[in-house]
Amino acid sequence: MSNGLIGEVAGAKGPLVAYFSMEIGLDPAMPTYAGGLGVLAGDTIRSAADLKIPMVAVTLLHRRGHFYQRLDEQGWQREEPVAWPINDFCNPVSQRVTVDVEGRTVHVGAWQYRVRGELGGEVPVYLLDTDLPENQPWDRTLTDMLYGGDESYRLCQEIVLGFGGYRMLRALGYGHLRRLHMNEGHAALLVLALLEEKLASRSHEQGVPVDLIDAVREQCVFTTHTPVPAGHDQFSHDRAHRALGDRRWAWLKAYGPDHSLNMTHLALRGSRFVNGVAMKHGDVSNSLFPGYPIHSITNGVHAVTWAVPAFQSLYDRHLPDWRRDHLSLRYAIKISTQEIWGAHSTAKRTFVEYVNRETNAGFDRDVLTIGFARRAAAYKRGTLIFHDIERLARIAEQVGPVQIVFGGKAHPCDQDGKNIIHRIHEFRDALRGKVRVAYLANYDMTLAKLLCAGVDVWLNTPLPPMEASGTSGMKAAVNGVPSLSVLDGWWVEGHVEDVTGWSIGDRIESCIEPSGDIDACHAAALYDKLERKVLPCYYQDRERFIEIMRHAIALNGGFFNTQRMMAQYLHNAYRLVGEYLRRE
Ligand SMILES: *Cc1c(COP(=O)(O)O)cnc(C)c1O
Repeated sequence: MSNGLIGEVAGAKGPLVAYFSMEIGLDPAMPTYAGGLGVLAGDTIRSAADLKIPMVAVTLLHRRGHFYQRLDEQGWQREEPVAWPINDFCNPVSQRVTVDVEGRTVHVGAWQYRVRGELGGEVPVYLLDTDLPENQPWDRTLTDMLYGGDESYRLCQEIVLGFGGYRMLRALGYGHLRRLHMNEGHAALLVLALLEEKLASRSHEQGVPVDLIDAVREQCVFTTHTPVPAGHDQFSHDRAHRALGDRRWAWLKAYGPDHSLNMTHLALRGSRFVNGVAMKHGDVSNSLFPGYPIHSITNGVHAVTWAVPAFQSLYDRHLPDWRRDHLSLRYAIKISTQEIWGAHSTAKRTFVEYVNRETNAGFDRDVLTIGFARRAAAYKRGTLIFHDIERLARIAEQVGPVQIVFGGKAHPCDQDGKNIIHRIHEFRDALRGKVRVAYLANYDMTLAKLLCAGVDVWLNTPLPPMEASGTSGMKAAVNGVPSLSVLDGWWVEGHVEDVTGWSIGDRIESCIEPSGDIDACHAAALYDKLERKVLPCYYQDRERFIEIMRHAIALNGGFFNTQRMMAQYLHNAYRLVGEYLRRE
């Protein structure tokens, strides 16, 4: 790694925005992400590179990844650390910084990964690494496992990300950063790192002057991703005080009277602009955190990353600008239904062959295929479609055959999530001979792309209001696959009944207590839609089904992409539009 290169990118024309995220899906072969949050971070950076937004990003290296998932015949998950060849993807940088963790000095190095955009733009990403010989053995493991270990481990990782990340950018020479974007609360200690830097330039030792806090707020942007209080990182007074030390614990007081360290509160207090990740999630967050104006910027997906080859070449033929202008997917309304069906049939054939090779499930290309894949978390209700398996089997027999494919990992400590995977395997066996069911192991970006494009209908059954946005339905839309979903997250905005897909239930429900009743109610609504609309349309009115596919591309692919999303961040969150254009 030549320092000349870094000097060049970090000079006067260097990045204005630094993006901090605990996970980033940079390359399907790098296990530096766990799920939707990391994939979104990767898509954000890919679009920033396409648009030549002057951005630099920071995350942790995750030497042992999140985990590799193996499933036994009963569907019990076993986790294995992931081994990956870091050198194949990243270059080490020579700079070193230190952070204080629990009173020890931890040395931090970094690796650089470069994301290249469609028109030659580039976003450098720095992956922090504490596996250095000068560190004590436990500290060497701090950047090993994404969401591994206990609470202490997590807090130490967040210190490395917030303090270590900021100091590393400084050491690398990034001197013109105007905006710091925290993707979820994991990065909130960045607020204290900024405050520390500003304090160092003053002689005050007593207390924190208000104008410094304001100066920190002016620079920071925070995106929250979780609509439930339990989803936000929180550390006890003792643990946080021990990890941060007296001085930094005292600075926290400048931001409010918390008795524990709540990462979301810290990020909220330290940011000028805060947003949720869909319209409804912004509203829900406003009621969760009264006193903070929370905006909405709805998530998207990077269209070129998520379109499979058959759809890429279809768009290349009909929408020649689509790679640098995702919004032109809107003009997919002019593509013939025959060609859309042709591209879909190619994607489906590839996928069905994959399912049969991996699972021996005997999937049939002519059968309506429903896909459901995402993290196996209880609120996603992966077993909802099996609420009444007799009714499901009857529908398949009387209206038209159905096959269902699943994928998704449970967090290693989430026993409820693991039970969901196991129960899906039980339902698979119970439905044998009636409805084919397959569960694909080790769901990752590569499998997500194959799956979202290779099924006919994308199913989503979260318990409202838990789905902040959801992005897998957007990946499906970019490949012409309509959604059948509860009205939560992005689907509140993307759903037009019988035009872009179908809703489960007719109302936008705001806050529901989990109960058997609501599951029964949503399951009945799901069966009704399958029986009366989805299956008859697929088997008896194929032309209309393909028109729905076309609208999924034009209306939803054309809007729910990260290019539109980044334009909104640029205008509303970063407010750098003029400056950014003058530099071009
Ligand atoms: C897109 C994606 C997700 C997010 O799925 P949601 O349905 O939005 O929760 C999770 N995991 C992987 C591997 C993905 O590619």
